[in-house]
Amino acid sequence: MFGHLSPAEAQQRALAVYEAALGAPYYAAKYAGCAPPLDAAAWRRLPLLTHQELYDNTYPRSTGMLTQPVAGMIVLSTGGTSGVARYTVMTHAEWERFVATQAEAMRLFGIAPTDRIANLFVAGHLWPSFVAAHDVIRYLGAVHLPISANIPPEEMARLCAEFDPTVMISLPTAFIFLADLGRKQGYRFPSLRLIGYVGEQMSEEAQRHVRGVLGDVAIKPLAYSSADAGLMGYQCTQAAFATYHLPTDFQYVEILDPEAHAPAPPGQTGEVIVTNLARQSMPIVRYQMGDLAAWLDAPCPCGDPNPLFRLAGRAGDDFKVGGGFISMRVFDQALEAAGPAVSLNYQVEVADLDNQMEIRLKVEAAEPEQAQALAGQVRDGVCQRAPLIAEGLEKRYIRDFPVEFVPLGSLPRSPITGKVKRLVDQRVIAAQP
Ligand SMILES: [Zn+2]
Repeated sequence: MFGHLSPAEAQQRALAVYEAALGAPYYAAKYAGCAPPLDAAAWRRLPLLTHQELYDNTYPRSTGMLTQPVAGMIVLSTGGTSGVARYTVMTHAEWERFVATQAEAMRLFGIAPTDRIANLFVAGHLWPSFVAAHDVIRYLGAVHLPISANIPPEEMARLCAEFDPTVMISLPTAFIFLADLGRKQGYRFPSLRLIGYVGEQMSEEAQRHVRGVLGDVAIKPLAYSSADAGLMGYQCTQAAFATYHLPTDFQYVEILDPEAHAPAPPGQTGEVIVTNLARQSMPIVRYQMGDLAAWLDAPCPCGDPNPLFRLAGRAGDDFKVGGGFISMRVFDQALEAAGPAVSLNYQVEVADLDNQMEIRLKVEAAEPEQAQALAGQVRDGVCQRAPLIAEGLEKRYIRDFPVEFVPLGSLPRSPITGKVKRLVDQRVIAAQP
């Protein structure tokens, strides 16, 4: 069970983290002109910590954010989703707290010692997921199958079929791929009851695509977390899609109206700003996660007093066309409507060509040549759901919108996480940190 702090208690704990942070040269300089944040108003005057600042000031590039020498620590890579690896370090005791908190989130799914958990994360590159899963499963006292996603996919599927896991944990990309491969090769995992994912939101269309092959299993996000800050949200059994409880005794979260720089009232979407209450060796204070969320007003029917918020999605979940934004969700919907022969692992490339735009959709399929017959249907399905694309094609500011099917597993994966980058907007790559 997660602990609960009142807002005043949480504010006190955040102040203690601020005081620890002053022991790091980076924070001492950053806060030199600031009044001690003794109340909420003064706290909100502390400057935010950006991705770029974290990138510039972390080990091994710098030890400026550390309050102690690098000794007795684990070094982790983070930020793989944006393509630029940052590193973060923490003491072994802090790591224990991180994984124990994650284990509590998973315990809510009713994991028993007899559960066989297939760990299908990519190991290596200092990426924390595989080793974190190892420690989390140990905390839960369940049976660990450390299969990983580093081995050939057929071998991964064969080991899963042989050991018949009750739980599988990995990224959405991996589960969509396992479902696509399972449809082609006919394997089943008869005891599987729960799929836990992290790394990105898994659309309801993608969930149905996976259930279509792997059976009527529960599919849940393991947590809302990051390597820098750790667990920021956990799902109880009552939580709706993208809705999480805040672990108030582990994380101090502010949701700020980006225009007013003031707390967003319940129901209004704002920027997630996080201060981790456990890290003292490399404090994370008022870190701008790059995520959007809104507090929910109503108490949760599960009885947990920790507040609820709804995650609105990460930057990069939509792209600009003409005067509006296209949600990536329209591609999930159009591909699901085209039937199970097409995967929901896909990539959208957006490029500028001589003042015209081109949108190129590449989709994995078990039989790409046969699937090509569905290209027109997918294209129409996207245009129906995203009238801005239809209008752009008609008015010729979108030059073309080709749909191409490629073999299973052939879309480029991040070598670090194994994730397919769904949106490659070449118009904004230069602007990314
Ligand atoms: Zn709840």
